[in-house]
Amino acid sequence: MVKKRESKQRTRGKAFFQWCKENGERGERLANEFKDPDKLPTEVTKGSWYKALWKCQKCKHAWKATVKNRTKSDKPTGCPKCVHLAPLSKTNNFLVWCEKNGERGKKLLKEYVDPDKKPTELTKWSRHKAMWKCQKCTHAWGAMVCNRTKSDKPTGCLKCHLRARQPEKRNRGD
Ligand SMILES: [Zn+2]
Ligand SMILES: [Zn+2]
Repeated sequence: MVKKRESKQRTRGKAFFQWCKENGERGERLANEFKDPDKLPTEVTKGSWYKALWKCQKCKHAWKATVKNRTKSDKPTGCPKCVHLAPLSKTNNFLVWCEKNGERGKKLLKEYVDPDKKPTELTKWSRHKAMWKCQKCTHAWGAMVCNRTKSDKPTGCLKCHLRARQPEKRNRGD
């Protein structure tokens, strides 16, 4: 057990530079994107929480992200600008996003009733003002797709939202 923990720590403690060398194209790209003014790629470890500066080789956008979040194997982060600009494709569209996002995705897909665009015709970042219909109260409204899919404060059915805030009075008719 002790041995296992040690080896895990060794991987995590591996120099970022060394990890890049061992990770082919992906490692090479990350090494090229690492543009931190304060630290060298040899000075941080692969699992470091250090917030380094990165510069996208594609769009030249610079952003800060922890080394750990960029090197992890499960959902590593990339250039936020490129993510937003990723072209619509069979693997990058609103439908695929819904399928990947469990209950929340299922609900959004059900609510999506836009007559102009199919769920496969836009990405989760789309600013298209789509039509949505609440499955609970059947209220329909227009909202940008990106505002409904974003992870930080996504919008939802306004009617249900208001109802939740103003509990129904029990003594109706008085
Ligand atoms: Zn980019
Ligand atoms: Zn509703």
